Amino acid sequence: MKPAVFLSVLIAAVALAQTNDNERRARDIYKQLVEINTTDTAAGNVTKAADAMVARLQAAGFSKSDMQVIGPDPKKANLVLRWRGTGARKPLLLLAHLDVVEAKREDWTSDPFTFLEKDGFFYGRGTSDDKAMASQFVANLIRLKEEGFKPDRDLILALTADEEGGTFNGVSWLVNNHKDLIDAEFAINEGGGGNMRKGKYLTNEVQASEKVYQDFRLESTNPGGHSSLPVKDNAIYHLSEGLARLAKFEFPVQLNEVTQEYFARSAQVEADPKNATDMRAVARSTPDLAAADRLAAQVPYWNSMMRTTCVATMLEGGHARNALPQLASANVNCRILPGMSPNSVKDKLVEVLADPKISVSFVGQANPSPPAPLRTDVMTTVESLTKQMFPSAVVVPVMSTGATDGLYLRNAGIPTYGVDGTFGDMDDVRAHGKDERVGVKQYFEGLEFQYRLIKMLSSR
Ligand SMILES: [Zn+2]
Repeated sequence: MKPAVFLSVLIAAVALAQTNDNERRARDIYKQLVEINTTDTAAGNVTKAADAMVARLQAAGFSKSDMQVIGPDPKKANLVLRWRGTGARKPLLLLAHLDVVEAKREDWTSDPFTFLEKDGFFYGRGTSDDKAMASQFVANLIRLKEEGFKPDRDLILALTADEEGGTFNGVSWLVNNHKDLIDAEFAINEGGGGNMRKGKYLTNEVQASEKVYQDFRLESTNPGGHSSLPVKDNAIYHLSEGLARLAKFEFPVQLNEVTQEYFARSAQVEADPKNATDMRAVARSTPDLAAADRLAAQVPYWNSMMRTTCVATMLEGGHARNALPQLASANVNCRILPGMSPNSVKDKLVEVLADPKISVSFVGQANPSPPAPLRTDVMTTVESLTKQMFPSAVVVPVMSTGATDGLYLRNAGIPTYGVDGTFGDMDDVRAHGKDERVGVKQYFEGLEFQYRLIKMLSSR
């Protein structure tokens, strides 16, 4: 072997060994996080997970004074780390939640709180939502620190509580009580990520917007009476006829910067040529409404991307088998497009129900958040990394039809993007469900993707 060849082989071998060390460490952190129960139950404790990460980061040379474990409840503390950069640019916030949805041993094939590697997958509660991302953040910051990296902006890591529910939402608490700790030019969060089907990498989503959650209570009341003497004026009939009208109603198709771009780019990887043509027709500045209807009828997700939706989710009525009902009520759950006011949705419901005997009222208060602008630095970085690492995948911006903690940050003026290089099978989503898992190969690819992403976004 010539010396030059030998040297390059040696360098490659050293790089590989380091990569493996980084992978081993990330896996250890991932395992540790999954095995700490962070559910919102008596057995769960988010603070324990936060403390464990502090110990890891401290051992890697981060100073304890740059880390805080704080929160409104002893079991629901959030970890906030600030890695001081040169200050050339405003900080970048890296956000992941530590809490997970409850998982019962009897519902699972194996113990949900024992990290298990089997048949090419990592199993355990939180493996996909959101402990893959949390462990990757910690492992990558440690790797960058070891490599002597100097970020040109502060890197803030926030690992938080109660994203999945519970009364101590970490992001909202931090925004309200310690905004200075997490204030950033923009944030990277869950909510985006790679989709594959039958092993083929198709899209890498950048989540930049979310629909707004709002429940309404519909109510019809009546003096009632003996059911042997019925009258036409009946609370159950009023409500059910109103609901039948609502069932036939659709809010108008309305696209925005994010969803238009979503359909335009998804057309590039859509397998069915008819759908691809319809997607392009919908993405035009004046969307083709017939094409929108065809797409909406096929895939609920596509429908939900194009319009506000309202659907009846609960129903109750009457108080005795032999009495005319005095009350009939329903819950209608709406997912409102950003920019549309909850009041205008309420007015529309009243109009569609078309019966003064049905009252409509808000349940809880909507928490609207503005879409994040599609920043070119974020989009071009994600695009170039996706091209390098997953050449068959197309980067698509998305509006989530559900909600994440990104909404609190966007409302606090911190544009937030769901970006994640860990691909998952779009036909096998197990977050919140049984036997949650992430592909071993995909986890390590996601680790490397995120490493490069953080590096590129904090150096020039
Ligand atoms: Zn999550």
